[in-house]
Amino acid sequence: MITVQVSPAGRGQGSRVYEVRVGDGAAVLLAELVASQVPAARHAAVVTDEMVAATSWFETIDPGLPFEVHAVEAGERAKSVANVERLCREFASTGLSRADVVVAVGGGVVTDLAGFAAACYHRGTAYCTVATTLLAQVDAAIGGKTGVDLPEGKNLMGAFWQPVGVLCDTALLATLPAREWTSGRGELAKYTFLGEPRLADLPLDAQIGRSVARKAAHVEADEREGGPRVLLNYGHTFAHALEAVALDAGADLRHGEAVGVGLVFAALLARRLGRISDERVAFHRETVRRFSVSDRLPAGLETVDPKELLAYMARDKKAAHDLAFVLDGPDGVELVHGVAPSDVLAAIEELACT
Ligand code: NAD
Repeated sequence: MITVQVSPAGRGQGSRVYEVRVGDGAAVLLAELVASQVPAARHAAVVTDEMVAATSWFETIDPGLPFEVHAVEAGERAKSVANVERLCREFASTGLSRADVVVAVGGGVVTDLAGFAAACYHRGTAYCTVATTLLAQVDAAIGGKTGVDLPEGKNLMGAFWQPVGVLCDTALLATLPAREWTSGRGELAKYTFLGEPRLADLPLDAQIGRSVARKAAHVEADEREGGPRVLLNYGHTFAHALEAVALDAGADLRHGEAVGVGLVFAALLARRLGRISDERVAFHRETVRRFSVSDRLPAGLETVDPKELLAYMARDKKAAHDLAFVLDGPDGVELVHGVAPSDVLAAIEELACT
């Protein structure tokens, strides 16, 4: 079993030191985790989604305390204010106290939603996570960003609320659908450029452990994303724009698939700005492909209007008053402000032609 300690830099409410355990069978540590980290708890609320609740292994999840299961619908739509209200009301009606514990069992949707409900319930109730998708294990479940979507946009309501522990059980990934694997591998590929150049050569549990450690290091330096945590968004400015366009077009696109092509776009843009060589661009493409993610624009979006993508990228939260991208360069990946729209459009066109 791999253990990574997360020690967020912040000292505010919701900040705490905790461990992430990674490996085959990590979920059996749940009762021990609850007993050691929330010793006053007498009752647990297990939050999951309906697809996870239907898996062959779900019945084995045991927080070691009396508990109820609260299952929301599967998918992004579950990340709603209505579900936060629903969960908090169910917690109250089952007598969950502030000393008790919320256990999130699922992918990033469940960990974001349950974490935010826990942050709100009694102004902050302890929660821990059994992360069951690759994407949640390498990214979403770590770092304490919790929240839900509004009709006006994704993740617009939320709180920084760190879990008391995270269990990444690789055995639970056996039931994960193929597209969800691809989505997680897109995020994994990103860590290659954040200090893990040989990530693709490692076994899966080591890939997850190294990614968690990299994410933890960024969270430690910058819990609330005022500085280096932004580098975790490598490939994401383009990915978020592509996801928004896909949504408008009714195209089916997973987040990690968008991140894979977003990494290649970032490399093309960096080369255009004279920051990296042709070989480095080739390494980006090769890396994305080694993680079995496509390095091209997805089917149905090959003819996307570059101006439409640019408009979404201009709204990105990294861009305070200008176009800003996390880009590779001689000193590694860094945030670059003041990128010219013409360079962005040219890089998109280059991506579409290759
Ligand atoms: P998800 O939670 O929707 O899970 C994907 C699908 O897999 C769902 O249908 C789910 O029911 C199913 N599933 C989960 N585990 C399974 C298993 N072991 N076996 C079979 N089916 C399983 O999606 P996700 O990709 O895990 O998470 C995406 C969410 O994460 C997005 O809402 C995103 O905004 C969020 N996110 C948050 C952070 C953060 O720092 N808080 C970071 C990245 C992403």
